[in-house]
Amino acid sequence: MLEAELAALTSANRLRACPPVSGQSRVNVDVGGEPRLAFCSNDYLGLASHPALAEAASIAAAEQGFGSSAARLVSGDLPAHRQLEERLAAYSGRPAALVFPSGYQTNLGVLTALARPDDLIVSDALNHASLIDGCRLSRARVAVYPHRDARAAERLLAEGRAARRRLLVTESIFSMDGDAAPLADLADLADKHDAILIVDEAHAFGVLGPRGRGLAAAAGIEPDVLIGTLGKAAGAAGGFVAGSDPLRDFLVNRARTFIFTTALPPPVAAAAAAALVLLDGPEGDERRARLRDRRAWLSERLAALRPLALSGFVDCPESPILPFVLGTEARALAVSAGLAERGVFVPAIRPPTVPVGTARLRITLSAAHEQRDLETLVRALGEAIA
Ligand code: PMP
Repeated sequence: MLEAELAALTSANRLRACPPVSGQSRVNVDVGGEPRLAFCSNDYLGLASHPALAEAASIAAAEQGFGSSAARLVSGDLPAHRQLEERLAAYSGRPAALVFPSGYQTNLGVLTALARPDDLIVSDALNHASLIDGCRLSRARVAVYPHRDARAAERLLAEGRAARRRLLVTESIFSMDGDAAPLADLADLADKHDAILIVDEAHAFGVLGPRGRGLAAAAGIEPDVLIGTLGKAAGAAGGFVAGSDPLRDFLVNRARTFIFTTALPPPVAAAAAAALVLLDGPEGDERRARLRDRRAWLSERLAALRPLALSGFVDCPESPILPFVLGTEARALAVSAGLAERGVFVPAIRPPTVPVGTARLRITLSAAHEQRDLETLVRALGEAIA
């Protein structure tokens, strides 16, 4: 039965497998024994291999042990978690923060805690799988609006007046397209329709906005629930919510993905806390500036290679994610293989991760890329699509 399903995936060009990657860098990697220049990690600032994170982790391992060995509510709440949450709250400019073992679990926990079957969740069509799964598990009524369409979101909120609670959910920078949500408009809508605004800053946290505080900070708005991950620009792992004190207390009592799981290992929490110091300081600013420069250069060169257009897409000039859309699964796989032959690593992203007909290379940039790396990518891509 399983083999038949796998064979069907293979014939649809949708079979997936994990490329065996090695090495300390997330840019110069080894894939299955071959050296490759990678443009696909979410290590946007190059912090995943920063010595300050490794050092913080090894000190925490020596002082607090490796595994936390229990849920936070039992005996897994260790100094590294408390310090990380203090720094997250300060960095986010909110009264409180709560850390989860991953961003995925954060989204599941938040949505299932805040929404019930008599509620309405209004959600962007391109929201991440973790937000979609959170919506489904909450058993609330879910109304999906076309990507970035605040007017459509408003209609759906207005129709949901009878719901006990309305929640408006969006990413800030979208994970597969790299474009930005109209956050100021959505914040106005949430106000007007008495909805809870939930913004997942997974791909903007640490990267965009003043001192990397994210797109909401850049837009001057304070979502009721701000979500982020520590596994991308922060170079560690984990997810978090920033918001009010009652929100934190409520989630501690109601978010099942917080309550019923082992706390992050303290070395991971300590590494994330060390990353926050870097993000908030001059080194963060310097890395963000380098990333912006690289992005400006690359996006022009990629546009000249004419990827397919995405509907509803509006370029965010500071986003580290550059979708190069190719169309069919077969075409995306062939171009990805062509890049690999030329020493460049960008896996094909295919449905169901992205809509049918928009299989792509999701090219991501890091402050750790050198200018010559970008030139290699552009040359290789030009040849691979020819
Ligand atoms: N939200 C978004 C928008 C994401 O892209 C991702 C990761 N791909 C997550 C949440 C999940 O975060 P994590 O990887 O920390 O589980």
